[in-house]
Amino acid sequence: MQDNRRDFTENEKMLLHTEVKGRCPLCGDILTHAKNNKINKTFEVAHIYPANPRHDEVVLLANEERLSADVNDMKNVIAVCRKCHRIFDTPRTVEEYRKWFRLKKKLIQDAEVKSAYAVFNIEHEIRFVLERLNEQFLESEIVPLSYNSLKVDQKANNTLPYVIKQSIKRDVVDYFDYVRRIFIEIDKNTPYKFDTLAAQIKGFYSKCMQINQNQEYVYNALVDWINEKTDSYSRKSCEIIVAYFIQDCEVFS
Ligand SMILES: [Zn+2]
Repeated sequence: MQDNRRDFTENEKMLLHTEVKGRCPLCGDILTHAKNNKINKTFEVAHIYPANPRHDEVVLLANEERLSADVNDMKNVIAVCRKCHRIFDTPRTVEEYRKWFRLKKKLIQDAEVKSAYAVFNIEHEIRFVLERLNEQFLESEIVPLSYNSLKVDQKANNTLPYVIKQSIKRDVVDYFDYVRRIFIEIDKNTPYKFDTLAAQIKGFYSKCMQINQNQEYVYNALVDWINEKTDSYSRKSCEIIVAYFIQDCEVFS
């Protein structure tokens, strides 16, 4: 029988190793080891849809979605440790195939979102909002919003889990008014700064929606993006900012 597998280049292997951040995405094991002052690879390039499927595997996976029509496409392979590779291949099961499929699909989408970071910037004034949210005497400044005025319920669909929706609601109730006042202050110094920031949030939101329309995914992608753009100053404050823009309609519009 002919072997459809191809050899992956060193650079391709490097990309696959980076994609899983150097750890087996199934068991967490480190994918390199040091010996005699040398770093050695201890991972294998595993095909998600098999390179040389046996007849029973073709039947088993006949109705399953594929990541690429070409089994040797980078989208259909993943770096894993030898043990997890063996477990996956013998015997093949639909459940494991679906798990690996989802895992790799998320890695592909995450990489696509991250690659947009270079193009989608945010004005540095957003950092000022984060700092104000971390002030010591914040409590005395808070004027809670009424639960009746919340917009997240109308905008959320079943891809936004209840726990995240509740957390967004609490952030809007507690901080919307306070954050609004900070933006007014910013606009006094630089007119139209808020509009610029809102347009940047809207722009990155739209980019995320191109990649994955799941609201939980998009919410987390926005939080991660603002967090990275502000040097990981305060992730919680980034959640508050995203909640603000959900209420203000730029996000989940
Ligand atoms: Zn493993």
